[in-house]
Amino acid sequence: NETLPDDFGRDFIRGVHEHLGGAADALGDLDRRSGDGDFGANIRTALKLAAENIEADAPSTYRQWGSAMYMAWLGVGGTSGPLFGMFFRDLAKAADDQAEPTLAQFAEALAAGQATIQKYGEAKVGDKTMVDALDPAVAALRSAVESSTSAGEALAAAEKAAVEAARATAETTARRGRASYVGDAAKGVIDPGAAAMALVIGAARAAVDG
Ligand code: ADP
Ligand code: MG
Ligand code: MG
Repeated sequence: NETLPDDFGRDFIRGVHEHLGGAADALGDLDRRSGDGDFGANIRTALKLAAENIEADAPSTYRQWGSAMYMAWLGVGGTSGPLFGMFFRDLAKAADDQAEPTLAQFAEALAAGQATIQKYGEAKVGDKTMVDALDPAVAALRSAVESSTSAGEALAAAEKAAVEAARATAETTARRGRASYVGDAAKGVIDPGAAAMALVIGAARAAVDG
């Protein structure tokens, strides 16, 4: 069972910060075209709160890094705040107190995060939400774990699946969230939450192979 690098938690959460921070404007634009336009601001608020948590708590373990991120999202409005908050909380539970997670533990935590998002958000795959990017990433990661693929390759496969699925949301019509109010007007627009989820998976990949 493949272990993840010593500083996986730190590098993963820093990567989430960089990837989402760098894309906040573009993701806000997508939300402007398909929803109510606040997603960029919601991301910025979450990242600011996360930075404050990191500053105050000086996290050193995977769990502590994850907690800094999940608590931040739980303090943000919009639908994405609580959903990403509960998602990152499940991710933070992947490892025991002092350890980094194994690849298998991380895969199961990602699956738990998907289940939580779907339990509270009630979105199904194909509803043009963050679930669309997460679902194939979880599947790719689980099958990589079963075939004993290296962590780097496994997470690269998960990222690729998430990126492709996020792109494909442009062709679908939203049935959940604010984008469902505009319906076909959002045709051709990638779901910002799905794009954000693909960036989160990408941060996990980058934390393994730099
Ligand atoms: P809001 O729609 O409340 O303004 P945000 O703009 O913060 O929320 O986040 C929008 C993203 O949240 C969407 O792009 C979508 O991926 C995701 N989302 C919205 N509703 C749901 C839901 N019910 N289940 C899962 N994800 C959702
Ligand atoms: Mg919005
Ligand atoms: Mg909103």
